[in-house]
Amino acid sequence: MKLYSTRNPNVLVDLETAVFKGLADDKGLYLPEKFIPFAPSFFDEIEKYSFQELCLKVCEQLFQGEINSNDLKAIVNNAITFDAPLVKLEEGLHILELFHGPTLAFKDFGARFMAQLLSYLNKDKDKKTTILVATSGDTGGAVASGFFNVPNIDVIILYPSGKVSPLQEKQLTTLGGNITALEVDGTFDDCQSIVKRAFLDNELSKKFNLCSANSINIARLIPQSFYYFEAYKQLENKKDITFIVPSGNFGNLTAGIFANKLGLPVRNFIAATNENDIIPKYLSTGLFEPKPSIQTISNAMDVGNPSNFERLLSLFGSTWNNEEINIESYSINDKETQNGIKNTYNQYRYLIDPHTAVGYEVYLKNKNKISNGIILSTAHPSKFDKNIYAELASKIEIPERLSNLEALEKNSINISIEFNDFKDYLNSKG
Ligand SMILES: *Cc1c(COP(=O)(O)O)cnc(C)c1O
Repeated sequence: MKLYSTRNPNVLVDLETAVFKGLADDKGLYLPEKFIPFAPSFFDEIEKYSFQELCLKVCEQLFQGEINSNDLKAIVNNAITFDAPLVKLEEGLHILELFHGPTLAFKDFGARFMAQLLSYLNKDKDKKTTILVATSGDTGGAVASGFFNVPNIDVIILYPSGKVSPLQEKQLTTLGGNITALEVDGTFDDCQSIVKRAFLDNELSKKFNLCSANSINIARLIPQSFYYFEAYKQLENKKDITFIVPSGNFGNLTAGIFANKLGLPVRNFIAATNENDIIPKYLSTGLFEPKPSIQTISNAMDVGNPSNFERLLSLFGSTWNNEEINIESYSINDKETQNGIKNTYNQYRYLIDPHTAVGYEVYLKNKNKISNGIILSTAHPSKFDKNIYAELASKIEIPERLSNLEALEKNSINISIEFNDFKDYLNSKG
């Protein structure tokens, strides 16, 4: 498998390079050079595969022998340890539940797969890999859980003191082992600039094998294509499917496009955004105008400069609608989002989180042209502030893996925003 940088299609790298680098030297993002579609007969018999077997098939099709089948099987089986069930709300409307992983959001798929893949790629190196990640909340939890106890890897998470939710903080600070949480006396931006400086620091890069678990990493995107196949497999009626994808950085949507390019017989994708409507605006005006992000109740999608736009542009140019694919995008405000939560509960006795609700409202707005819709449910409702749910808050069922966290002891190391503080800490480890 070879990958190219969105800024220079002529320079190809192998999977290992793309995963360790994350971002290409020219600051472009990596994309697979080619997708070889499955034969149509594969889809005729897709129902015979378990979810894990299907994930392995997708990997083999993408990697084309770059990793041998036995090792690939171990990577998949260690990463994908939970299901992605499809729930039918009514004829022609389904929810794909992507929140059955340890941190209750779809980001578990990407973080767990990346952890297993890195550990495999690192196994013959003499140095451990040290993952650095700055988090404003959600990503850190998925990365901490995904990399926990993975051999040959240490993880250092920087988070802004007092600025993540108590539950998120517990997800970052209670694992121990190879996961260290640095509590920074500053903001998320301060955390991020420490991480950025660390990657530019010659002394540190000589001493450590530093790597970022940032969401632009191709290793996080690849596993997100698995569940598009899984959804297709579970559908009774496989005709004229439309995926509705709650979107922020548009990684999840891009993974759906990978599935389309691997031959999945689905042509229609609708990206649902909150008031951060950069892509809906782009598709209606042709102008891409990033802005500072606007805070909403679907906060994991508060993105004013969606990073995967660069990948989408490289794949499609300005025409996101052709014989093979049709990508549309619409925006929803907070009031509509709250209505979406209420209405799905009242109509189907099914409680959705605010991100999924953005998807549902976009579905409603386009209902006349969707005959067979699948909304990706990106997180479990219990992850978010109860106030969002108003009188429905009492209906939230808190999964055990979340309620267990509350009793655990927080363990973090305090540092200032001075880079040297961070460096001293890291050097003391090495
Ligand atoms: C990250 C996230 C999203 C947005 O996904 P992108 O791949 O960035 O578009 C949506 N919902 C939830 C719950 C998330 O955590």
